[in-house]
Amino acid sequence: MELLLSLQDVSYAYHNLKGETPALSHISFEVSQGEFLAIVGPSGCGKSTLLSIIAGLLTPEQGDLFYKGQYITDRGTDSVMRVGYMPQRDHLFEWRTIYQNVILGLELRHELTPERRDYVLSLLDEYGLYPFRDKKPSELSGGMRQRAALIRTMAIRPDLFLLDEPFSALDSQTRLNVSADIAQIIRSTDKTALLITHDLPEAVTLADRVLVLSKRPACVKREMPIRFSLDRSDPLGIRNTAEYRLYFNQLWEVLTNEQSEIHTG
Ligand code: ADP
Repeated sequence: MELLLSLQDVSYAYHNLKGETPALSHISFEVSQGEFLAIVGPSGCGKSTLLSIIAGLLTPEQGDLFYKGQYITDRGTDSVMRVGYMPQRDHLFEWRTIYQNVILGLELRHELTPERRDYVLSLLDEYGLYPFRDKKPSELSGGMRQRAALIRTMAIRPDLFLLDEPFSALDSQTRLNVSADIAQIIRSTDKTALLITHDLPEAVTLADRVLVLSKRPACVKREMPIRFSLDRSDPLGIRNTAEYRLYFNQLWEVLTNEQSEIHTG
């Protein structure tokens, strides 16, 4: 697989009047084209900081970022590729219809051409929201709202999805199905995705590879490729397999053992 993004020895600290808060410590990892990478770590360890650096909202104090081998440290990925960001809440505007919500990103970028409009309508159709295009967000279920948020992100045709705990506002039963649904849609389009989560089961169920971060300041404690013989579209089935339990137990041990060493594989 083609190498898309590479972080080398990235460190970052916040500075304010009270002093310094180190958030990231010597982070290195790579992401390949088409890969679904989950990043897990304790709450407050620096996961959102890491996404902000990848998105180019923050510049690392130390270390470098490369996109397809090109140096992008102080410019961020957004300067060379289209980044589609899905935040923790769906941020659908109640005063806009679903259609008006999903075209918002294109409007803001002044890219609402007839061709893009058709693409958005085809996405609404493909993912079952076309009949709801004139409804208000509050008239939709949590799962449908997430789909709408994903379509809004897909509308700009991103090369890389940055998913910052996008399922955290959903109740746990809905979350299981919605997260599998969204991940399946992203996979089927062969897009690359970075999912930030503190939910280990979610990471193991959805990702091709899981990166475990330590508590703050975050360093990479473990990288683990995840492979299942079962199809990923069945999240409950996946969670009942021996493979799932094995991955979960290994990662859980790394996550909860602050002394564990850094290794990959
Ligand atoms: P996570 O996403 O893993 O919960 P964050 O990346 O949001 O963690 O934050 C990492 C640490 O940096 C936290 O301890 C947080 O309090 C601190 N932090 C985040 N943003 C700022 C800021 N703007 N100024 C100072 N400290 C911050």
